[in-house]
Amino acid sequence: LTGKLGDVFERLKRRGALSESDVQAVMREVRVALLEADVALPVVKEFITKAGEKAVGQEVLRSVTPGQMVVKIVHDQLVEMLGAEPEPVDLNAPAPVPILMVGLQGSGKTTTTGKLARRLTQRDKKKVLMASLDVHRPAAQEQLRILGEQTGVATLPIVAGEQPVSIAKRAMTVGRLQGYDVVMLDTAGRLHVDEALMAEVASVHDLVQPHEVLLVVDAMTGQDAVNVAKAFKERVGVTGIVMTRVDGDARGGAALSMRAVTGCPIKLLGVGEKMDALEDFHPQRIAGRILGMGDVVSLVEKAAETIEKDEAERLAKKMAKGDFDLDDMAAQLRQLRKLGGLGGVMGLLPGIGKMKKQLAGANIDEKQLAHQEAIISSMTKKERKDIKLLNASRRKRIAAGSGTTVQEVNRLLKQYQDMSRVMKQMGKSGMLKGMMGGLM
Ligand code: GDP
Ligand code: MG
Repeated sequence: LTGKLGDVFERLKRRGALSESDVQAVMREVRVALLEADVALPVVKEFITKAGEKAVGQEVLRSVTPGQMVVKIVHDQLVEMLGAEPEPVDLNAPAPVPILMVGLQGSGKTTTTGKLARRLTQRDKKKVLMASLDVHRPAAQEQLRILGEQTGVATLPIVAGEQPVSIAKRAMTVGRLQGYDVVMLDTAGRLHVDEALMAEVASVHDLVQPHEVLLVVDAMTGQDAVNVAKAFKERVGVTGIVMTRVDGDARGGAALSMRAVTGCPIKLLGVGEKMDALEDFHPQRIAGRILGMGDVVSLVEKAAETIEKDEAERLAKKMAKGDFDLDDMAAQLRQLRKLGGLGGVMGLLPGIGKMKKQLAGANIDEKQLAHQEAIISSMTKKERKDIKLLNASRRKRIAAGSGTTVQEVNRLLKQYQDMSRVMKQMGKSGMLKGMMGGLM
């Protein structure tokens, strides 16, 4: 083996780390992109600082420019802030599960109530009851009834003159008595957040203790939507956000502000007026939309893939040669530790499943890697190239020198023999060649 696995990584690294000025140059553009996407200024500032700190000093992948690298880091940070894990609507509560829909007038509450009820009914096979608590806008209750007819979802019969809290109470009773899984309560909105609106929502909230409080906000209203979200969160609590009109021109910046300011997960997106225009929230998609630099991101992702492939090829070639001494083993142990164990390295090689088992049989205990390195470094150069030299007294000396025991030294040598045997087998069987073919 000429050159160790470690050298490969060293060489890759030598492409250099991102400097402060690399990062700053790109951050200026990112800042403009975020502001254009209607992300709130304080959020932009905080984001730029965080992403910048993360980027400086990071290694630049081969075949991409430092600028492209920064964009990718920014993108990943954006995805993380938007919530990398999707958070679906949670129905994990005793039936009927109350879901309260809140928000300003015209934000899309009634439409979203219909969309979500339809989805829960058709996709999740839930028995859903919808009730409109909007006694302020003429024909609001009728609007929901018609949506129910269109989608085949039950609505609570309308009683003229009944007040919101009383409607909510009746809806929960009917839900319980008639075996509904979910009761969706569509509330009234106002043009602005005001005390009358909040008091009404709060009293309904106190009564039904909803399992989900979904705040519906219009993505087109940008920063206003964030202020609305703050107000609702403080007054009634919000368990999730639905952004509507994401089908319009809005670039989704409100999503980032919303998430950053309220900490509430964005659960759903409304992408049209039709009843099937409801999507789960995909942070990746929104991040791409906010940054508008999707091409750069996929370019860097491709470069990262290529490097993984290169590493795998180099590793395979080295193994194929089959001559493998204890120095190489020490280098590999170090590398294994860095890459999160044998599984990590082997995972890079396609078709390695069988070999992995064999190597696992060679009893490689990742926790002992440090001890093992110490043992190897206590050997002389000659001993490392030829373990046949290692008689009992030499083994004793090595154990003493490395602060280990003779048993541990023996175990390491046995492991080394196992490893080199497996590698020779791999070379002979032509499996490595097959694997290499698969890689190209
Ligand atoms: P509410 O006052 O909050 O109940 O709002 P509505 O549900 O009545 O919706 C107000 C208007 O917005 C209606 O014309 C809806 O069709 C429309 N709307 C709701 N959600 C969306 C959406 O995701 N995309 C688009 N383009 N229009 C929507
Ligand atoms: Mg409505």
